[in-house]
Amino acid sequence: MLLSAWYQCVRGCPGRYDVFDVIYRCPACGGLLEVVHDAAALAERSSSEWRELFTGRARVGANTQYPIPASGVWSKWEWVLPQLRPENIVTLGEGFTPLLPAPRLASSLGLDDLWVKQCGVSHTGSFKDLGMTVLVSAVAQMMADGLNPVRAVACASTGDTSAALAAYAAAAGIPAIVFLPRGKISTAQLIQPIANAAHVLALDTDFDGCMRIVKEVTRDRSIYLANSMNSLRVEGQKTVGIEIAQQLGWQVPDWIVLPAGNLGNISALAKGLALAYELGVIDRLPRLAAAQAELANPLYQAYQTGFQRFEPVTAGATAASAIRIGDPVSYEKAVAALRQFDGVVEQASEDELADAAALADRAGLYACPHTGVALAVTAKLARRGVIEPGQRVVVISTAHGLKFTDFKVGYHEGALADVVARRRNPPVELPADAEAVRVELDQWLARAGHQLDERQQTTIQDRLGWRYEQV
Ligand SMILES: *Cc1c(COP(=O)(O)O)cnc(C)c1O
Ligand SMILES: [Zn+2]
Repeated sequence: MLLSAWYQCVRGCPGRYDVFDVIYRCPACGGLLEVVHDAAALAERSSSEWRELFTGRARVGANTQYPIPASGVWSKWEWVLPQLRPENIVTLGEGFTPLLPAPRLASSLGLDDLWVKQCGVSHTGSFKDLGMTVLVSAVAQMMADGLNPVRAVACASTGDTSAALAAYAAAAGIPAIVFLPRGKISTAQLIQPIANAAHVLALDTDFDGCMRIVKEVTRDRSIYLANSMNSLRVEGQKTVGIEIAQQLGWQVPDWIVLPAGNLGNISALAKGLALAYELGVIDRLPRLAAAQAELANPLYQAYQTGFQRFEPVTAGATAASAIRIGDPVSYEKAVAALRQFDGVVEQASEDELADAAALADRAGLYACPHTGVALAVTAKLARRGVIEPGQRVVVISTAHGLKFTDFKVGYHEGALADVVARRRNPPVELPADAEAVRVELDQWLARAGHQLDERQQTTIQDRLGWRYEQV
């Protein structure tokens, strides 16, 4: 079995390009490229052989011959980038993230069968690690082979891409340059590339402005572009849907819902599932729901016209800062994905996303604002009957809540713009006095509906009295 993959224009222009070439767009029409795999070669393995192979690699330590047991992405390397030689892989243990059943959250959102794919439980705290391991590994191989004079990798970012790029580049010893919109990302996201020794340029513009600059800068082919316009990232990110099916025993959920900004991730999700379907590894496709913030909703607006018209917007100051994007690079790919997967697009307001995130937290999660957008949209679709009773829904949680402490603090201080923080839980300040504490706890438990009846109360008081006497 000789596997291979190459670049091709998504709009169907003829021509194939080497995946180790420095090329991001079709030279004929300017459209995005995508990595195409030799499907006939992949089909030489049967669907059950593929499932067995992937399942075996998921058992940590089960296969000592396999060189990269800790990476969910490289556990599927034949489907990702078969020409990448194992010695060039730059991994930080990405993928194999938990898929959690969320019954308490399901009932508060009005769903029957809800799961959360915890992509933020990852080295740099977001799903961007899935794609960055592939891109940086490919650059490491280009450098090792001396094919292209690459001096550095660069990206524009709303925070998570730059954190991932900086970490993987540092692990490989490759210089990284990141362009960030000044004052528009969280403190944690800003400090990550700084700590990982990237060259951080904070520009007085928004993400879309940074994107324009990085496109200019990377016309110098020795600075390699690491945004999701670069289709190598999509190849890593596409493993998420396959991994979800694998974790559900190769069963496909009815819906997968995810927050959508630059639209690389939804394109990637669809691409992975489509390949798994084509090779018979899964027996049907889920429906997809793209969730946008109302303040940054160009895809939602286009959806309202049946994708007849697309207008870039100026993205507003949503708390979901990683999807604050007005002119998404992968729009065409996303529309194709939504058509193929009978997809829908829905939006959430600041109040809705914050409330959904708070509800998730109250059920034991720690949701980032983007996951809040996806959860709010899931609840809306269920209320409208688009998601039907009994259907299984997987929501992709894209980042770790710990990266968005400002958002959490703002919520519980009641300080977020356009948000009525109904589930605030501020700390209670009291003197260090046992009686004052007891009174407060009684009131709190009573408010929460945990009053004791009279008999229970007497028993407890007796017991307390006994303990006080001992002291
Ligand atoms: C990048 C990112 C997204 C959006 O993904 P796109 O590929 O840009 O659509 C959503 N959530 C988080 C946390 C992200 O970092
Ligand atoms: Zn083309």
